[in-house]
This record gives sequence, structure tokens and C-alpha cells, in this order.
Amino acid sequence: MSIAENVSRIREEINQAALAAGRNPEEIQLCAATKMNDADAVRQAIAAGVDCCGENRVQELTAKLQEDAYRGAPVHFIGHLQTNKVRQVVGKVALIQSVDSERLLRAINAEAAKQGIIQDILLEVNIGQEESKTGFRAEEILPMVEKSGEFSNVCIKGLMAIPPISQNKGDNVKFFQKMSDLCVDIRRKKYDNVTVDCLSMGMSDDFADAIGWGSTMVRIGTAIFGARHYMP
Ligand SMILES: *Cc1c(COP(=O)(O)O)cnc(C)c1O
Repeated sequence: MSIAENVSRIREEINQAALAAGRNPEEIQLCAATKMNDADAVRQAIAAGVDCCGENRVQELTAKLQEDAYRGAPVHFIGHLQTNKVRQVVGKVALIQSVDSERLLRAINAEAAKQGIIQDILLEVNIGQEESKTGFRAEEILPMVEKSGEFSNVCIKGLMAIPPISQNKGDNVKFFQKMSDLCVDIRRKKYDNVTVDCLSMGMSDDFADAIGWGSTMVRIGTAIFGARHYMP
């Protein structure tokens, strides 16, 4: 199947999942996770109508920006970002989805201040409490949001999560549910300058479940581009 056919099939599945959950399909954005795919594949996905692209690695982002690969769609950063590389990402992407520590948030804020811009970001939650993953613990999110006034050059638009790799379909529902609860907690407090318009969760294997629990952005790689070929 072509990239275009995959995108239209996924869009149809997104619409069905939204309707099944009593939601408006237009609330859900399709982010193409483009890691390890070249500029040509990215262009095909954009032509097929994905809402945005998500890049994981600074080096790939920089290379594809130079090739003008993302023309026609916003690009987001969705991978682990080292503080010493923020300068290559801040101001170059519409949204940094993967802000996984207060230290990184400070570095992004400082770089955005230097550039005289406001950088939109999401806070990444390590919702499965996995040792191997970065991200805030769920209970750190509200205190972080309460401090967000200190970071006047970032705007927190919501939350992002990558649940543990699941063995069986439906395994991640409990994590999506926890993320949904966390969003409700934040919304209830009505902070200035912080919204949870964006809840980024759901990947190729579980996006329908994520939509059932309020996801507004699904990040899809394999189901659009096919299996990734990792270098040995
Ligand atoms: C690769 C990646 C995805 C997409 O994963 P698939 O299972 O290939 O759909 C989503 N989010 C992040 C952060 C990723 O790195």
C-alpha cells in the first residue's frame, strides 16, 4: 500500500474511533512520525493530508529542514531532546512535544527568550513509570504547571505520553485513562497561560483506544510508512 492509501485508511479509522467515542473527528490531529524516513516519504505523507510531522532526532530534523521536506505542514519535535541541542530545535518547530524534565524546560525557555519568541511545548509524562524512559511522573505534573509562570517564553499546550510497549491489544487503556484523568485535574484548576488543548497519545497499534480516552493527537509511524529499517 502506498503512503497516500495508508494515510487515508488511518484517517478513516480515526474518524470511526472518534464517532464511536461520541467525539468530533475534527478534534483529532494526525501527526506523521517520520523518523528514519526520507524527505520524499515525508512529502508524500504531507501531500496525503497529515496534519503535522513529528521528528525524533535533532540531526534528522536539521537535515530534512535543509531539504525543505516539511513544506505544507508544521513540524514537531517528539524525541528525547538533550539540553545542549535546544538551539537547533527552539524556533524551528511549531511544538516540542517531548519536554521531559524541568531542566529541559528551563533550557528551552532560556533559548526562546534569547530568540525573542514563545515556544509552544507539551509536557511528557512517563505514565508507565518505566525506568528506561524519561518524562515527568504523573504526580509531578500539577506542581510543574503551577510553576509555569516562571517560564515566560514557553507556552504549555498540553501533555504527551508514550505508554509501555504493549503485549496485547487493550493493554494501554489503563495508561490512556490515567492521562485523561490528569488532563481533567489540570483543566479543573484553570491556570492562566496553560491549556490542555493538546493530549498527544496513541501510536500505530493503539490509536483507536487513545482516541476513546480523549487523545487529540495521534502520532503514527509504521502504519503510514511501513516498518522502519534500523541500521545494524
Ligand atoms: C516512532 C514514534 C511514534 C510512532 O510509532 P509507530 O508505532 O511506528 O506508529 C510515535 N511517537 C514517538 C515519540 C515515536 O518515537
